[in-house]
Amino acid sequence: MSGRITELFNNNVFTDAEMKARLPKKVYNEVKACKLDKGSADIVAQAVRDWAIEKGATHFTHVFEPLTMLTAEKHDSFVSLPDEDGKVMMDFTGKELCESEPDGSSFPSGGIRDTSRARSYTSWDMTSPIYVKEDAIGTILCIPAAFCSYTGEALDAKTPLLRSMDAVSEQGVRLLRLLGNTTSTKVTAGVGPEQEYFIVDRDKYLQRDDLVFTGRTLFGAPAPKGQELDDQYFGVIPERVGSFMKELNEELWRFGITAKTQHNEVAPGQHEVAPIFSVTNVAADSNLLLMDTLKKVATRHGLVCLLHEKPFAGVNGSGKHNNWSLSTDDGINLFKPSKKPETDTRFQLVVGCVMKAVKKHALLLRTAASNPGNDHRLGANEAPPAIISIFLGDQIGGVVDQIIEKGYADSSIPAGMLDLGVKECPAVDKDPTDRNRTSPFAFTGNRFEFRMVASSCNVAEPNIVLNAMMAEAFSDAADAIEAKLREGKHTDVAVREVTAEFIRENKDIYFNGNGYTDEWVAEAERRGLPNVKTWVDSIKSVTEPTTVEMYEKFHILTKRELEARAEVFYETYSKTLNIEAGTMIDMVTKKIIPAVIKYENNLAASVNTIKSAYAAANISTQEGMLHEIAELLGETYKALKKLSDVHAKAVAMEGKEQAFYYKDVVKEAMDELRAPVDKLEVLVERKVWPMPTYGDLLFEI
Ligand code: ADP
Ligand code: MG
Repeated sequence: MSGRITELFNNNVFTDAEMKARLPKKVYNEVKACKLDKGSADIVAQAVRDWAIEKGATHFTHVFEPLTMLTAEKHDSFVSLPDEDGKVMMDFTGKELCESEPDGSSFPSGGIRDTSRARSYTSWDMTSPIYVKEDAIGTILCIPAAFCSYTGEALDAKTPLLRSMDAVSEQGVRLLRLLGNTTSTKVTAGVGPEQEYFIVDRDKYLQRDDLVFTGRTLFGAPAPKGQELDDQYFGVIPERVGSFMKELNEELWRFGITAKTQHNEVAPGQHEVAPIFSVTNVAADSNLLLMDTLKKVATRHGLVCLLHEKPFAGVNGSGKHNNWSLSTDDGINLFKPSKKPETDTRFQLVVGCVMKAVKKHALLLRTAASNPGNDHRLGANEAPPAIISIFLGDQIGGVVDQIIEKGYADSSIPAGMLDLGVKECPAVDKDPTDRNRTSPFAFTGNRFEFRMVASSCNVAEPNIVLNAMMAEAFSDAADAIEAKLREGKHTDVAVREVTAEFIRENKDIYFNGNGYTDEWVAEAERRGLPNVKTWVDSIKSVTEPTTVEMYEKFHILTKRELEARAEVFYETYSKTLNIEAGTMIDMVTKKIIPAVIKYENNLAASVNTIKSAYAAANISTQEGMLHEIAELLGETYKALKKLSDVHAKAVAMEGKEQAFYYKDVVKEAMDELRAPVDKLEVLVERKVWPMPTYGDLLFEI
């Protein structure tokens, strides 16, 4: 098998090597420099087409990322008009490679484009690899692309992501120059997203309308066993899931996705896959492709992959840890301290910048990591709390403590070795930093792990904020250092003073303790850190003056684009809740109430039969159950009426008001309906219950 990896790897990708081999050097260099003229574009298109056709491709498409948070594609075949002999040519021009003009009217635009103005454009992202995808439909040439309106405004995740990458690079290099670095010309963010997911049996899935329509269970009593024995985490991977994972890895390797780590996660039925980190836009594109591949491969195995943040109540939900670092083109990881962090002034300044950035944009980060599904996780003692803070660990925390206290650091805890005390096992290299799984933003030695991100979201979103906020902090640091240099201060002094200012002014964001405790909630409130429980409540951060100022300053998004995004987010929330409420009403009306009545009838029939056979028989069990079930059914019906009522009201509303109504009123009515139904599930005979239970879904795989 190991030999196979090298054979499979990048098989479906138009790699750099492929490009080099197929293109004249000049044209190859133009692609690498992202400066392509029309003539060269035609040459590249021809090479790409030839390669794709050798791979069996019949169609091509730009793959773009509208604000639905999913990918979108529109396939065109290579077929051209036949010549006089009836022969078709396989056509693909430079223009088709570089741009396309899809009708964009059915994508969310947040008011940027009125319905009659449908034109929009996609444009090739020359820095993300082109690949072919082999589907049941055939082989498709896929070209990663950005997406904008006729007016040039960004309607996607990729455009602002690319702009944010440029901004952090420019400001990063500017700061490095001030620190005396003369060699680095680029700063790039590296991202390694760890993807969590659930696997369920497809036949069982298809029997649950809630899973089919909403991706999560809207009803379901807990199974007798949950995750309390901790026996799932890193446990033996079930056979059926194992064969799915094997094929998944092979598919991912073909796409050049470096699937590296796989394991069972905490909840039954939950797993994780993680690639090796890569440049942000490539990591984001790969993660979208990985999510598609998870779903496709699962289907081939009679399984379904659930990417929802909380498919099942009562057990852990899924997230996507966004491991993030900034490195220069000459190999300096700005987040990697030297062996003596107390003397590493560049690293200390970078930590100061991270603290300043995260403190200032905490709520925006929380928003960008969220979606309706993540509201079921954040703050629920399984994922990080909804409060953003930074964990720095003992070693770096110790350095920061000294800077807060006296303006500089002169000692730190060494990393060292850990001796297990058994001669059979070698001593292990000990990390200077322990892990803190309760922190949403944890330093892990050479990167920060942003642990809040929703499992189904496009990681471009949080990374736009990460890059933008760092561009701003680097720029602020550079401004402050320059001001001190103008006062005649020595660079070392200026850097030390700015580092101390940034760290001291933002020390409240730094917290090394347990983020799950009530004490932290109280302490965070004292520190004035936002603790916003829901996504809807946090969306306001998208149009806050601090956000608009930052994005406009670095040409990442305009005020209008941000307002449009906020509107799309409110709409997305309302639409999601609308589907969930509608699904609940439908399931209760058409399946659950009829099933319960059937069971009541069985019980009533049993009472009558037994009574007529033997008048003195003890039928208290049947009567007791009938009573209990009838009561709960009454509650169910009342809650159903209430939900139907508020749902109808919600549907008639619009925009922000509608989203808040869904969050405050409809969601509560949904909870009120779920409660009696889950109690009924426990009472009603298994055979009569109209859908697979949590036990069936989570344990019978
Ligand atoms: P964990 O043990 O935290 O679950 P995993 O091994 O599952 O970690 O995933 C860690 C992720 O972090 C991987 O994608 C890995 O490539 C990535 N990573 C490692 N170093 C860096 C770095 N310097 N910058 C960004 N990501 C990194
Ligand atoms: Mg992991």
